[in-house]
Amino acid sequence: MKLLRLGDQGSAVAEVRAALTYLGFLPATPRQSGERGNVAPPGTRPGESMGTELPPPAATAPPIPAVPAIPAVPAADGAPGPAAASGGAAAGPPDRFDPDLDNALRAFQQSRGLSVDGILGPDTARALEEARHNLGDRLLYLSAAHPFVGDDVAALQERLFNMGFDIGRTDGIFGPRTESAVRDFQRNRGLDPDGRCGPRTLRELKRLRRTVTGGRPDVLRESVRLLARGTSLLGVVVALDPGHGGDDLGIVSGGLCERDIMADLAARLTTRLLDSGLESHLIHGPDESPNESERAARANELEADLLISLHADGSTSRHARGVSAYYYGNARGSSAVGERFAQLVQREIVSRTDMPDCRTHPKVWDLLRRTRMPTVRLDLGYLTNDQDARALGSTEFRAAVAEAVLAATQRLFLPPEMDAPTGQLHVPRLAGRA
Ligand SMILES: [Zn+2]
Repeated sequence: MKLLRLGDQGSAVAEVRAALTYLGFLPATPRQSGERGNVAPPGTRPGESMGTELPPPAATAPPIPAVPAIPAVPAADGAPGPAAASGGAAAGPPDRFDPDLDNALRAFQQSRGLSVDGILGPDTARALEEARHNLGDRLLYLSAAHPFVGDDVAALQERLFNMGFDIGRTDGIFGPRTESAVRDFQRNRGLDPDGRCGPRTLRELKRLRRTVTGGRPDVLRESVRLLARGTSLLGVVVALDPGHGGDDLGIVSGGLCERDIMADLAARLTTRLLDSGLESHLIHGPDESPNESERAARANELEADLLISLHADGSTSRHARGVSAYYYGNARGSSAVGERFAQLVQREIVSRTDMPDCRTHPKVWDLLRRTRMPTVRLDLGYLTNDQDARALGSTEFRAAVAEAVLAATQRLFLPPEMDAPTGQLHVPRLAGRA
């Protein structure tokens, strides 16, 4: 191909100009000269239906080194003056490789990790071609002879990767590994696993994206599995873990015993979950208190979709009170779904009772760490505090907590568009609150 550079002219130059304008490296409307190196922010491409997850090219790029202005044409014509900016006409003839185009091309090259020479050679031309494709513009599938290459493929790969699918690396090439990741995703979503990324698959990707954000890929995998359940609560398996049992009484204070309160709460919750079409299992009987690893193993065996561990708290201070929720996580990352459920259930409990909000917290406890499903431990108030103890001792409070957990579970499994404001998924509010 013929190399294009500053000073060239022709229809090929006009095409490059159009491409760089489309990508946001040139303003759609001409502006004042003297803004060299100050390209329009990319990332605002037209027709971008799903947004791009690739970093905007110039947003992360260091300032573009000033290049000597070498007017390709007499200043009156090519170098745009104030008249050109106000006149609404292009800075120069669109088919002329002027300094603005040179500058934009260099910015583009820099954003793509190409050598910044302002020359349109084969590499830059290919990169420009690839950059033109937005996810959703074309059907993507494995084509051995002519693999799809482009930003749309990269966006697809990135999205799959973020949800925990194995795509190898985000190289923007639709290869066998990308295809198998698409098939995995489709199977997960109950779509025909044909490995082709068309409108239905894109819609699912888009739908999930609103729900699944943040966190590490490996923990986001659980979100996909969870959402694969679809819009029905039927068949969702909730494992319940009464915190104590047998000789293990848990906190005992003022005639109340954590073991018995949580056994009662677990029974109430089981009833509510079953009534709502969910499957519910206790992971241990009333006469035993397995250690946390064992509890986790049992929940894994059940292939539960969610594990909820029920506890009360105790403190040497009689003033300590309130409810808190714990999910798996540390400084490096956390269970995205566990965190979401912890927040949901915390919010529901606090809105339905008088318990102070002691927030949600990431922990690496065995029960949270060794379970494969999102797991939340609830500490439902302090038996060592008079007010909390009164609440925990009342059937109204336990019924309210059961209702709150059910509402949070529904919120977790139903898609966001079916979510109702807090407080709407509920039985009548507590009449005589503790
Ligand atoms: Zn406990």
